[in-house]
Amino acid sequence: MRLGQALASVALIGSLVACVEALAAQSPAGGAASAAVAPGDFALQGPLSQGGMVIGTAPAGTTVLTLDGAPIRLAPDGRFLIGFGRDHGPAALLVATRGDGTMVRDPLTIAPRQWHIEALPIPKGTTPTPEFLAKRKLELDQIAAARALLPESDGWRQRFAWPVIGRISGLFGSQRIYQGEKGSFHSGLDIAQPTGTPVAAPADGVVILAADHPFSLEGNLLMIDHGMGLSSSFLHLSRIDVHVGDQVRQGQPIGLVGMTGRATGPHLHWSLRWRDERLDPLLLIGGPPPGQTLPVEGASGD
Ligand SMILES: [Zn+2]
Repeated sequence: MRLGQALASVALIGSLVACVEALAAQSPAGGAASAAVAPGDFALQGPLSQGGMVIGTAPAGTTVLTLDGAPIRLAPDGRFLIGFGRDHGPAALLVATRGDGTMVRDPLTIAPRQWHIEALPIPKGTTPTPEFLAKRKLELDQIAAARALLPESDGWRQRFAWPVIGRISGLFGSQRIYQGEKGSFHSGLDIAQPTGTPVAAPADGVVILAADHPFSLEGNLLMIDHGMGLSSSFLHLSRIDVHVGDQVRQGQPIGLVGMTGRATGPHLHWSLRWRDERLDPLLLIGGPPPGQTLPVEGASGD
C-alpha cells in the first residue's frame, strides 16, 4: 500500500469516526453537558492510525480519563487530545470514569501504516567523539527542559495550517537501513524552500525553545507548545524571530527557512510530538500542501 492509499484509508477512518460523532449528536442527549455527545459515548475526531492525532470529547460526567492506563488531561469542556506514535501497536484502550464511579470503556483499533524504507550498502556512520557526545548532552538537556515547561495554550484545538508551502522532500516515518542496521526514523516532514523563506506558526502556542546558536543536528531549533502536551519543532532555520515565553498566533511569522545543522539543502523540518509520541504533520493537516504531490521514492528526509 502506497502512502496515498494509506492516507485515503486513514481519511476514511476519520470520516467513520465523524459519522459516529454525528450519530451521537442525533441520539437523545438526555440532558448531557456536551451537546455533541450522548451520555456513555466518546466522540473522537481524527485518524486512529500510527502517527495520528485524535481530539475527543469524554462521556458526560467523566472525572478521570486514561489511555492504556495512563492519565489523560481533560479540558473544562470535556475535550482531550491523544496521539499514536509511528510504531504504535494495533490496539489502545480509552477508559472514562464518572464521578459516580461508573466507567465507559472504548477499545480503539489503530491502523498500521507502510513507511518508506531505504536500504543502503554503506555503514551507519562513524563513532561519535567524546567532544560531540558532551556537546550533544547539553543540547538534549535543553530540549528536555523545554518539553517540561508545558505552558497553557489552546492551539491544539485549532485546524493546523502549513508553516511553509512547498515541495514535500522528506516524509514522516521513513527510515534508512545501513548494511542491515536500522537508522532512526525520520521524525518530521521536510518542506523544501530556499533559505530566507518565511515560516509561520501552524497554530497558536507558546515558544518553549528558541536556540541562540545552531544545535549539532537540528541547527537553529525553535519549539512551540500548543497545549495538552502537543508541540511543534522547526529545524534548520536560518533565523528565529521569536523568544522563549512569547505567545504566538496561528500564521504569525516565527523565522526563516535555512539549512543549519545536519541538512543536505535548505528546507523546513517540521515535527509534531504528543508527550513522547512522534506524530505525522501530514495526517494532522490531511494531505500535501495546495498544488503539491507526495514523493514516492527518495523521501527519507533529513
Ligand atoms: Zn527532516
